[in-house]
Amino acid sequence: MTEEENNLADNLSRVRQGIQQCAVKAGREPEEIRLIAVSKTRSLAEVKAVSALGQNCFGENTIQDAMTKIPYFNNKKVEWHFIGHLQSKKAGKLPGYFQWIHSVDSIKLAQKLSSAMQNYTKNSVLKCLIQVNVSAEVSKFGLMPAEIKPFLHNVLELQLPCLAWRGLMTIGVKGDEQQTRSAFARLRELQQSCKEEFALDDFNQLSMGMSNDYCLAIEEGATMVRVGTSVFGQRKI
Ligand SMILES: *Cc1c(COP(=O)(O)O)cnc(C)c1O
Repeated sequence: MTEEENNLADNLSRVRQGIQQCAVKAGREPEEIRLIAVSKTRSLAEVKAVSALGQNCFGENTIQDAMTKIPYFNNKKVEWHFIGHLQSKKAGKLPGYFQWIHSVDSIKLAQKLSSAMQNYTKNSVLKCLIQVNVSAEVSKFGLMPAEIKPFLHNVLELQLPCLAWRGLMTIGVKGDEQQTRSAFARLRELQQSCKEEFALDDFNQLSMGMSNDYCLAIEEGATMVRVGTSVFGQRKI
């Protein structure tokens, strides 16, 4: 192994251990939590090295960056998650490359994704999370918490083919631990109440927690943590 590969191996095992410990502390099964290695801005070689260590979920936040990597993985076991803001005119780029999108935030985007999926394939689905802006000061994207149920109501009424509604995503607050924790808890309450109210059996996913706060997120119920820096090191760009 090169020195760089060694560093990546150390980082990855530290994050895996961290997830394990936080899960146990929270009385949860570590297997309930999916680690998404956020590979945005990283080179193909870095992502291949992390993949070779057994990591099989990666997150990208732009189509352009993702396309320098995804086509070079013909291994079907690697799962790609789109986690950035997506303009609806670019929805056609996702099918065949990404299996998940965490950042659905408009009906128009959902419609475009659905028709892009239909054009691409009639027998697979794109798994969708709705992005929630629990802390308006951090992110300009995502729906406000009060908009989530009306959104789900409208989008379900459209019965869009090839989309599967699987849960909620948020980007944490820049605050103290208590603020972060309560934002995550709020997302969880919202997800559970949507699941019940709309009778969505598979609306189980909570994508929350990044390098700085994934442990808090796990304690508050995260099923997916999106970790970039702690896996790949500081981003250069
Ligand atoms: C970059 C990014 C992450 C990862 O952030 P780190 O602090 O590097 O772990 C997670 N989620 C989203 C949406 C991102 O854009």
